[in-house]
Amino acid sequence: MNNQARISVIIPMYNEEAVIAETYRRLSDVMRRTGESYELLFVNDGGTDRSPDIIRELSRRDESVKLIGFSRNFGHQIAVTAGMDHASGDAVVIIDADLQDPPELILDMLDKWQEGYEVVYAKRSKRKGESLFKKWSASLFYRVLHASTEVPIPVDTGDFRLIDRKVCDEMNRLGERNPFVRGLVSWTGFRQVAIEYERDERLAGETKYPLKKMIKLSLDGITSFSHKPLKLAGYAGAFMSAAGFVYMLYVIAMALFTDSTMRGWASTICLMLIFNGVTLIMLGVIGEYIGRIYDEVKGRPLYIVRETHNMQRTPSREAD
Ligand code: UDP
Ligand code: MG
Repeated sequence: MNNQARISVIIPMYNEEAVIAETYRRLSDVMRRTGESYELLFVNDGGTDRSPDIIRELSRRDESVKLIGFSRNFGHQIAVTAGMDHASGDAVVIIDADLQDPPELILDMLDKWQEGYEVVYAKRSKRKGESLFKKWSASLFYRVLHASTEVPIPVDTGDFRLIDRKVCDEMNRLGERNPFVRGLVSWTGFRQVAIEYERDERLAGETKYPLKKMIKLSLDGITSFSHKPLKLAGYAGAFMSAAGFVYMLYVIAMALFTDSTMRGWASTICLMLIFNGVTLIMLGVIGEYIGRIYDEVKGRPLYIVRETHNMQRTPSREAD
């Protein structure tokens, strides 16, 4: 009956062989305690270590264990999206593979879901064992995002959450090329509630989010939920033209009413560098948006599946 599990748990993983067996143990412990039927949907995001072998082995003994394997690394957000495409549960839980998100919290999420909430997201009140830079940059990012968008995206909240089938179906209709899952879930609306938790340290292994992936995630978040960076060009231009105009009046006045002519080779160079710099930054901002438009227009599939195990259900978005 696992084919129609009531609760689906999506676990994106990228080279997580050091933790994945323990993650399975803790998760299945918790899920058994719920008394509901469940599936553990592991999405191997093109990792090259033994984690898919471990999952395949587990899936032979435990039919709730399912595996979707990508043909290469497509990224965490796309792995989560693939999980939502393939999940069959009435409730869908998204959780990291490294046990930074305590599986036991799923029980509280289910309680809230039973109360009628359609999205239960886990807000980090504390983050343990992460570098100061990570904590600081994450905190800054959530606040910039919150300030720049009309969609109320909760701060300090990752993808660890429970969503109802209705929300999952809506998410599956979106099909964005650079999905920012936590923002899109907020965007769908429905009744949402937060529960707070302290984020643990990663159980073992290294972070799979180097700076490059963190920057990509933040740019995806900001560009897909705000046009403000584009408007910045207009504001900067207006401010600089006004400043330039005032300065020009001053220069003319000096020439007409005094003997001194303006000297200023150095200041000309400085202004040139500043103005050209601002222009190029704004071109870069526009480029970010155009690149994303291009990604949408090409219409390539979001991910390519190389292998599946224990999966019978056809995904809601098979080849788009
Ligand atoms: N992950 C993934 N694909 C990637 C990078 C990460 O599926 O390209 C998974 C990873 O295995 C983990 C989750 O996404 O389950 C969060 O990654 P990680 O814990 O390394 O990020 P951090 O907690 O350090 O921000
Ligand atoms: Mg982690």
